[in-house]
Amino acid sequence: MLQVKNLSFKYSSKEVLKQIDFKVDLGKTLAIIGESGSGKSTLLKIIYGEYDLDIGQVFWKDNEILGPKYNLVVGYEFIKHVTQEYNLMPFTTVAENVGKHLSNFYPEEKQKRTKELIAVVELEDFAKVKVKNLSGGQKQRVALARALAKEPQLLLLDEPFSHIDNFKKQSLRRNIFNYLKANNITCIVATHDKNDVLGFAEDMIVLHDKKIIAKDTPKNLYDNPKSPITASFFGEFNVIEPYGIVYAHQLKIVDKSELKATVTHSYFNGKNWLVEAKLDSQTIFVEHENEINQNTIVSLKIIK
Ligand code: ADP
Ligand code: MG
Repeated sequence: MLQVKNLSFKYSSKEVLKQIDFKVDLGKTLAIIGESGSGKSTLLKIIYGEYDLDIGQVFWKDNEILGPKYNLVVGYEFIKHVTQEYNLMPFTTVAENVGKHLSNFYPEEKQKRTKELIAVVELEDFAKVKVKNLSGGQKQRVALARALAKEPQLLLLDEPFSHIDNFKKQSLRRNIFNYLKANNITCIVATHDKNDVLGFAEDMIVLHDKKIIAKDTPKNLYDNPKSPITASFFGEFNVIEPYGIVYAHQLKIVDKSELKATVTHSYFNGKNWLVEAKLDSQTIFVEHENEINQNTIVSLKIIK
């Protein structure tokens, strides 16, 4: 189990994290979500052992994770941290990068494992290509494969799919998280994209204003977001008193109701239209299957 206990952290005088407490059970995936600057990357770095702590402790099983004051080389063998920088070797091939940490004493084993991991990140056609000639998304995939190579017990992923295009993203996420499950690897993934984690993480924490403002399963947070910050992660929403947080898709346009709004704009979003309207002086968003003309008065019903 990973345990973060009463952790507070400052960069010189700037406080970034305050009284952070959580646990992740072995083999589970925890998602850390929060706006840019909310401290997600900092938290992952601390868990990796990159910083010394004044307040709080981090434990992996019975071992306390310690910072550079205590470790000559930052980090731990059993943890892999895939950062937003990748740290690859540009002048060597994809296969060499992925196999970098694997022992040369067992060349066949090394080759087999490298091949398996290259398949997980779907880079079979690029195995012999030098990393410097890859796109940003392809580099990110190499970094993911390399992190898995030595079977870490704990994997820390920082915005792991941010540079991967939508064609590849869906299958890649499934490959990676299925691989983690199959190998019982514990994972903490920081992201601002719900699609990275909703179908995969058992638990989720929301970081805001230095603190954890919510912690639950993705489904419970989605069903009952409690705060606008949490709701905003899941999609377009409104705060309509006295009903509270209402997602755009929970507002239905009906023939008759007391709740009336005037349409100001319709935005096509693929599956349907996002209709912007004025409810008294408040701007609200409604999902609807058709475009609706400006100035149309619509009747609304909340279906939760
Ligand atoms: P996130 O990953 O959620 O975007 P970060 O952990 O990168 O957030 O940053 C949290 C806050 O700490 C930000 O305000 C950022 O500017 C600040 N910060 C990050 N790294 C450093 C650093 N090395 N020195 C000083 N401030 C930093
Ligand atoms: Mg970050």
